[in-house]
Amino acid sequence: MNVCVIGTGYVGLVTGVVFADLGNEVICVDNDEKKIETLKKGIPTIYEPGLEEMMHRNMQDGRLLFSDDISEGVRKSEVIFIAVGTPPRDNGETDLSYVEDVAREIAANIDRYKIIVNKSTVPAGTGDFVREIIEKNKKWNVDFDVVSNPEFLKEGSAINDTLYPERIVIGAPNQHVAMKLLELYAPLERPMLITDVASAEMIKYASNAFLATKISFINSIANICEKAGADITLVAKGMGYDSRIGSSFLQAGLGFGGSCFPKDSQSLVHTAKKFGEDFNILQEVIKENDRRVSRFIERIAERYDSMENKLFGILGLAFKPNTDDLRDAKSIEIINILLEKKAKVKVYDPVAMENAKKILQGVKYCKNPYEVAEGADGLIIITEWNEFKYLNLDKIKEVMKTPIIFDGRNIYDPNNLKRLGFRYISIGRKEI
Ligand code: NAD
Repeated sequence: MNVCVIGTGYVGLVTGVVFADLGNEVICVDNDEKKIETLKKGIPTIYEPGLEEMMHRNMQDGRLLFSDDISEGVRKSEVIFIAVGTPPRDNGETDLSYVEDVAREIAANIDRYKIIVNKSTVPAGTGDFVREIIEKNKKWNVDFDVVSNPEFLKEGSAINDTLYPERIVIGAPNQHVAMKLLELYAPLERPMLITDVASAEMIKYASNAFLATKISFINSIANICEKAGADITLVAKGMGYDSRIGSSFLQAGLGFGGSCFPKDSQSLVHTAKKFGEDFNILQEVIKENDRRVSRFIERIAERYDSMENKLFGILGLAFKPNTDDLRDAKSIEIINILLEKKAKVKVYDPVAMENAKKILQGVKYCKNPYEVAEGADGLIIITEWNEFKYLNLDKIKEVMKTPIIFDGRNIYDPNNLKRLGFRYISIGRKEI
């Protein structure tokens, strides 16, 4: 099938590469010329395990093209995916201006029947909005359909998630167009759910909001555990054995960040309001999440007379492991507070350093965790990269000025840290 993906970011690039790998002719379009130039050279613009190799293979075979010319992409393809950003406005509402721009450009170039598939996360009703824009602005009198096909990939395992999705949701306005999308996804042999367009749009928000709720729930339990002398890791384990609850998304920590959960939760609250509903549970989920960093910082500050001129080593910048994405990353929030308090900050992340340098000044970028720990008054773990789980902690202790670790992700066994002579402050567990 001839496929065009408009918006070649985390979702668009991975989607385009995987569709090419399934044997389709794919053209990935972006209006960021620099991005397209880089991609044309075979250099991935994001870090994602397995992406580079798959991208090269399909470029070499001529199935994967990159272009900054949307008209070329639209005219050559029968299925057109929209995968542009849908950032939040100040009031939490989803900013659909990128989607709208793309719809107008599709309208200017649509020259025969095509299927427009919305892969961006958009509020219920956006399918109709896109349809209206194309209908009003199309140059030629041609027919088209608008489908919702929300994306569930997770950064850090995006290729794997796209090849083996737990479900494929297709919100289609009619049987014919649903069959076409089924055909495109058939080689994956994964469960598919056909719905109407609005339900598909809602499935995405409801899923993310539910996962965000699990995170804020376990974090609230962790707050109580800290005071009650209980251990949140054991509590979560005990809860997770119950198949009605499940063990995933029960890791207490610094809260949810990244480009999706915060904005999608806000957006759903806004959508609810628009329809006259108060989504109180979700509002509390967001509030609890917003309190995570200040609570953690308070626990750090308690250990020192003053933070001024204290040297803190930061391990992990990316919003989660296996990605270089810093959007809504807790690291940025924490580092900015430390700098406001006039502390000195050294940082290290296995892959997100280059992205961090573009937005984070006034910190020292280090080559490895040991350099970060050298002379530090405290070591702060923000992202649970595997590399940090297997550090030589004897060496870390030797080079630190004061051996104290603030672990925002509970990656160490407190008893082990005690034995090694550290003070260890983690989430929802006794301080050692
Ligand atoms: P992104 O910011 O990484 O990529 C968006 C791309 O669209 C950018 O490269 C931008 O230059 C391009 N773009 C914007 N306007 C354009 C235009 N008019 N023409 C061509 N290109 C244009 O965003 P992302 O993280 O890939 O997210 C895309 C959508 O997918 C969002 O709605 C997001 O909520 C959703 N989503 C993201 C993830 C994720 O993990 N990142 C997962 C599921 C769903």
